[in-house]
Amino acid sequence: MSDRTIPRGGAARVLDNPWLGRTAILVLAVAIYVFPLIAHSDYRLYLGTQVGIYLLVAMGLNLLSGYTGQPSLCHGALLAIGAYVTAIATVDHGWSFWPAALVGMAITAGAGALIALPAFRVSAWYFALITLAFAEVVGGMLIEWGGLTHSFSGVVGIPMPSAFGQSFNAAQLFWLVATIDIACFIMMANMMRGRFGRGFIALRDNEIAARASGISLVRLKMFAFVVSAAVTGLAGAFYAVQKTVITPDDFTADVSIFFLVVVVLGGSGRLWGAALGTVAFFVVPELLTSLQAWRLLIYGVVLLALMLFAPHGLAGAIASAWRSLRVALGASPRPPPPLATAPGAPTVQKVRGMAVSIAGLLKRFGGVTALDRVSLKVEAGSVHAIVGPNGSGKTTLLNMICGFFRPDEGSIRLDDVEVVGRSTAGIARLGVGRTFQTPKLLPELTATENAMLGAFAAERASTIEVALWAPRARREHAALAAQAEHFLGFVGLGERVHEQAGELPHGQQRLAEIARALIGRPRLLLLDEPAAGLSLTELDKLGALIRSIADLGVTVVIVEHHLELVADICRHVTVLDRGTVLAEGTPDAVFADPAVIAAYMGARPLAEAAS
Ligand code: ADP
Ligand code: MG
Repeated sequence: MSDRTIPRGGAARVLDNPWLGRTAILVLAVAIYVFPLIAHSDYRLYLGTQVGIYLLVAMGLNLLSGYTGQPSLCHGALLAIGAYVTAIATVDHGWSFWPAALVGMAITAGAGALIALPAFRVSAWYFALITLAFAEVVGGMLIEWGGLTHSFSGVVGIPMPSAFGQSFNAAQLFWLVATIDIACFIMMANMMRGRFGRGFIALRDNEIAARASGISLVRLKMFAFVVSAAVTGLAGAFYAVQKTVITPDDFTADVSIFFLVVVVLGGSGRLWGAALGTVAFFVVPELLTSLQAWRLLIYGVVLLALMLFAPHGLAGAIASAWRSLRVALGASPRPPPPLATAPGAPTVQKVRGMAVSIAGLLKRFGGVTALDRVSLKVEAGSVHAIVGPNGSGKTTLLNMICGFFRPDEGSIRLDDVEVVGRSTAGIARLGVGRTFQTPKLLPELTATENAMLGAFAAERASTIEVALWAPRARREHAALAAQAEHFLGFVGLGERVHEQAGELPHGQQRLAEIARALIGRPRLLLLDEPAAGLSLTELDKLGALIRSIADLGVTVVIVEHHLELVADICRHVTVLDRGTVLAEGTPDAVFADPAVIAAYMGARPLAEAAS
């Protein structure tokens, strides 16, 4: 084919037309709702409903394991809890389906909160083992608590939901489940483009970035567990009514493992991953029954191929094929980003800088005394440098100020607030922003989304408003995106706002971190070696940037090795050497100090003689 037959770019424009996606989704939705009318077999309808139920579980699990990075091997057990509560309440206690399902959902959510507890203490892999143990315990309880669960014989005769005195038929159950699936999908999509999506991904990819952005890890993780479990519990309620009989055999450990495989191979942490995984690993094998003899082989080959060639699962593979198609048709590698056009793009506001007063700060790591009773004052609104050889305790000092580590002794006052013992999130919320010596961005998100993370604590739209993408959530999102682009422009990254953070060079990642800190409107900004790896021109720009941040009134504490930059932007310098303050004063005086020169040259005896 030549350029003449397909106007290059023209075809790409068709692909980029938002109506294409909307039409595809409309067709899909119509197909789903028409399905019971054309299924022509009870079995297919049954299978369709089951897909819908499994999809709910997969979506719940994707939230927790895919987005939040907590690999759960107990979603089969959570499904069992929802199913058994519903079954027991309706069959043994004569409840109607609706309250039974609600209670089942609530109890499953409670179980989710319970399994969240170990997740705060152990790494992801230990956590996966703990969830597997939980699944075993639940499986055991289904058998042992026979008085409640009827042990091996299970609960029999679970009635269909009914409305207005009419019991649902199979098609109506399908429609109900499909509607819940679609609602759940839309709400997940909304959550993920709002602050929760950024927060979950921060929990998964960089907890330190999350803490520095004022996110309470405990609250957000707990939230992910509870929502994930609640969705799974709801799926359990439908599982029970569809099967009409449930026994412990329905919920063995391989059910949990199956769901994790579905999510991972479908595309974990991707919106369509759960749906693609459910279709590929549940529906397709069912359809392959005619190829019975080959079925396992085909299944195995596909699994292997996915693991080898599609690290981001089916959803990732499809997304990258789509990108290649667009490029082949002459489009730019990225779709044109919708520019944030919030009314009243932000003007950078002046703030009142925060004063820092540190006294007698002591921090030991095992045998290493990183900080040895350091005392230090930083004037509100000043630019204050901390310099010193590698390993002298500079980063540790910043980590103490923003609460990443708790000092062994000493006090840190920000204005008049003692912050020793406060959480990182709490300190960030007081108005402390920071950047890191090695940049800590979320590599899969764009520069804009990374910057938006910095405002997590300041966002006001409620969970429900975000889930429904209500006007307030929409407005807040647009305003925040505009602010993020504004601050990225302010730090000199205006051209790269829509690029993935992981693709930015190191120096620019540091600048993006400054934008992320600024969007939280800090009154104290801590910069850890922001100039490392910058070119000379970039260094000049950084100097100007820090000066303009100081002009806003923000107190800046900068750890830096480039002494010319320090001399240029700071009026106060503190020199640390092996955890103690070696010298203090104006850059001119400090850099002329023989003890400082000696410490920097590594002439220890001279430094010791001088101190
Ligand atoms: P600087 O930033 O000045 O290069 P750091 O504050 O990173 O120095 O480190 C000071 C000392 O504390 C070093 O000896 C370092 O090895 C030690 N240290 C820092 N953080 C930790 C930690 N999390 N665990 C153990 N030792 C640490
Ligand atoms: Mg350091």
